[in-house]
Amino acid sequence: MKRRQIVAGNWKMNLNFQEGRDLASEIIRMIKPSNTLTVLCPPFVHLNHLSVLANGISNLEIGAQNCHQSSSGAFTGEVSAEMIKSVGANFVIIGHSERREYFNEDDELLAKKVDAVLANDLQPIFCCGEKLDVREAESHEALVQSQIEKGLFHLDSEAFAKVVIAYEPVWAIGTGRTASPEQAQEMHHFIRSLIAKKYGKSIASATSILYGGSCKPDNAVEIFSQPDVDGGLIGGAALKAKDFISILQSFPENL
Ligand code: PEP
Repeated sequence: MKRRQIVAGNWKMNLNFQEGRDLASEIIRMIKPSNTLTVLCPPFVHLNHLSVLANGISNLEIGAQNCHQSSSGAFTGEVSAEMIKSVGANFVIIGHSERREYFNEDDELLAKKVDAVLANDLQPIFCCGEKLDVREAESHEALVQSQIEKGLFHLDSEAFAKVVIAYEPVWAIGTGRTASPEQAQEMHHFIRSLIAKKYGKSIASATSILYGGSCKPDNAVEIFSQPDVDGGLIGGAALKAKDFISILQSFPENL
């Protein structure tokens, strides 16, 4: 089965309502029909409006950047997966390194969030990736393996088939330092082999694995040309319509 090429934009905590509306409108004006799925992941306040804007545009979906693991209740300030679904979003980023680092989200909690996302017919974009000291100690594969096993491998095959994985080496996020195409390929291949061992080759080859970490128009072509890289999770460059569109067009068949 051919897996989906996906480029997801993580806006993080940027852009007020008007700015977000303008950026999404500009992206929508510039987007060309293609097989690549585009996912815009703005802060919660934009989800409803962007879902309306994206309605009817093929291969454009909206996603959230986080959700709470419970379905409802006394959790002041939190947003549930069911609420996200109710405004028309279809994806949720889970386990971004900033959530792991600044909000103490651990593997056990992330597994619960993945369950909440899937229970509401949303797709998780599950982030994994090592910090610099871990890479320097050459423990990056062991760390990513543990994040994936603890966060995802409790799922049955049917549920796992809905998961998108984003490999984001923490040392490359927002730093301008990118993993080399070879480093990205090596890790993506490793992740796919883990999935094959657990769920079989067919599910492994159908799973989209995205790269994230200072992906820009000038390096996306090389990264996306790697056989196990199925697209990107884009931070900084997702805030500029031209750059984001140029990254979207960086797959070998679009050049
Ligand atoms: C991210 O935050 O997911 C990310 C990849 O950021 P950046 O592209 O800015 O490194």
